[in-house]
Amino acid sequence: MYDASRTAPTIQPMIHLDRVFKLYVRSFQALVDINFSVSSGERVVICGPSGSGKSTLIRCINGLESIDSGRIEVDGVFIPGQSAALQQIRRTVGMVFQQFNLFPHMTVLENCTLAPIRTARLSRAEAEELAMHFLTRVRIADQAKKYPAQLSGGQQQRVAIARALATKPKVLLFDEPTSALDPEMVKEVLDTMVSLAEDGMTMICVTHEMGFARKVADRVAFMSAGKIVETAAPDAFFSAPRNESLKTFLSTLLNH
Ligand code: ADP
Repeated sequence: MYDASRTAPTIQPMIHLDRVFKLYVRSFQALVDINFSVSSGERVVICGPSGSGKSTLIRCINGLESIDSGRIEVDGVFIPGQSAALQQIRRTVGMVFQQFNLFPHMTVLENCTLAPIRTARLSRAEAEELAMHFLTRVRIADQAKKYPAQLSGGQQQRVAIARALATKPKVLLFDEPTSALDPEMVKEVLDTMVSLAEDGMTMICVTHEMGFARKVADRVAFMSAGKIVETAAPDAFFSAPRNESLKTFLSTLLNH
């Protein structure tokens, strides 16, 4: 029987989820038998209705949530595993959150140097040089001395992207990075993400920005009730959806 959640095997996936299940206490199954691979350099967009498990899925990939069964492999390291494995995965995977999650009492520069100093054990001068490189990369170096509250939402999200890049991740996970932004700020963040994609960064983006999906995604995955029910290249995904929930989802998006 055709199983849309099973993707074609790749030679050496950067990320591989094998029969992953996740159940929150007193909740429905948040993830149900997830089998999914992402290759190095691949850009995957995940969409689906609210509560379908998208955020849970990417939070499990960097160990922010534990899984109940199955296995996740990230760049050759497995979870569940030893705590050292989890640390290793967190160094490999950078995360950008919907609400930016910057430290409000630290300047932009301090937000971006914290992890390089603490976990990569760089000197302050080295960490600042690295942070300024990535703040320049997201075109916000001139705001380095400011505090997050002094910046717009779009600027804060670009700082959050620079902070993630400063840990030199092999994979970036985005959890609805533009949904907390005012409409006029969405483009600046999406443009930054497009330019990262063009640089070859491996990316998994939970987003409903379908223009972004069409432009940069190698594959788009649709989640419904904890399962990945359809995965396809953008053209096929949007022009010939097979799953009934996906058809409904796409028509709802079009009517907004
Ligand atoms: P999405 O990102 O697609 O909106 P989530 O992954 O946030 O979906 O949530 C999937 C399901 O898990 C939902 O039913 C949600 O209510 C539930 N859930 C998410 N986080 C928790 C939590 N910390 N505790 C209990 N249930 C949760």
